[in-house]
Amino acid sequence: MTITATTGYADLHAHTTASDGTLTPTELVQAANAAGLSLLAVTDHDTVAGVGEARAAAEAAGIGLVPGVELSADGAPGKCHLLGLGIDPNHAGLRETLARVSEARRTRNERIAERLLALGAPITLDEVVTVAPPGANVGRPHFAQALLAKNIVRTRDEAFDRFLGDTAPAYVPASSLTPGEAIALIRQGGGLAFLAHPALVKLAPGETMRARLEALKALGLDGIEAYYGQHTLAQIEQFLSLARGLDLLVTGGSDFHGAHKPDVFLGDVFGGRGVPLSVLPPQLTGAAGRKEPCPDGASRAPSPN
Ligand code: AMP
Ligand code: ZN
Ligand code: FE
Ligand code: FE
Repeated sequence: MTITATTGYADLHAHTTASDGTLTPTELVQAANAAGLSLLAVTDHDTVAGVGEARAAAEAAGIGLVPGVELSADGAPGKCHLLGLGIDPNHAGLRETLARVSEARRTRNERIAERLLALGAPITLDEVVTVAPPGANVGRPHFAQALLAKNIVRTRDEAFDRFLGDTAPAYVPASSLTPGEAIALIRQGGGLAFLAHPALVKLAPGETMRARLEALKALGLDGIEAYYGQHTLAQIEQFLSLARGLDLLVTGGSDFHGAHKPDVFLGDVFGGRGVPLSVLPPQLTGAAGRKEPCPDGASRAPSPN
């Protein structure tokens, strides 16, 4: 039996040890293959460092790989994460800007460590770097892991609730890019720009999601991540309807992070089997493929939705 490129399943949002995931790019690709996925996107925070290894592993496994990145953006029309899918990871302008953003992350990490010290939770940058994989773009989940390792908190949730979450006292904004800059960068790098996990976007009082999407579309946004592991069915339908109305593309993924988000499984979107290739933009599904049909016994966790 031959599985064609429109009958498989994809997960187009996953993190590796290049940022705050806990699987290496190779391990992630192998997990995607074992889960029966035909297409995977590696979307690390503000870096494409994992894409090369993932691509080689995907070729070996016979599944498709979409090179991606997840950019944190702040500024008008509001704070958000933007997924760049189908980017050229070797694009010089993209690499240069990502290097600058990663440098800003290091400065931010120093400030987070200062705040933690002032809050009576002394974590040095060295301790955070020690718990992070070599070369990783260090972020808040690594701080959470260091807080756990020092028994300052008992759970990751506690680390975010008490210290690191967006409204908690050790939070320091991450981005040096505005949404417009992030979208332009993704497009310059040959990718499509999608608003990540739209249900998690905080709207201003009185602002509608439609107005936010219109503003982002005016900046060049190509689409939205309508299918997301933590979206309810009602939310998925809402975002599909908005996408139709605004002529935006849709994508979908789990936001898999390995042990940093232990409740989220690869392919944990759209009922736990991944996003059907048939609903994704053809620009992204061209690379899909499996040497073998999806194994019947592919182990996929049930979706919490
Ligand atoms: P950073 O890029 O350093 O701002 O870290 C962002 C990452 O932190 C997200 O991708 C999540 O993995 C994680 N994160 C953010 N907020 C929370 C939260 N409230 N609970 C658990 N993880 C979170
Ligand atoms: Zn993350
Ligand atoms: Fe995100
Ligand atoms: Fe993510």
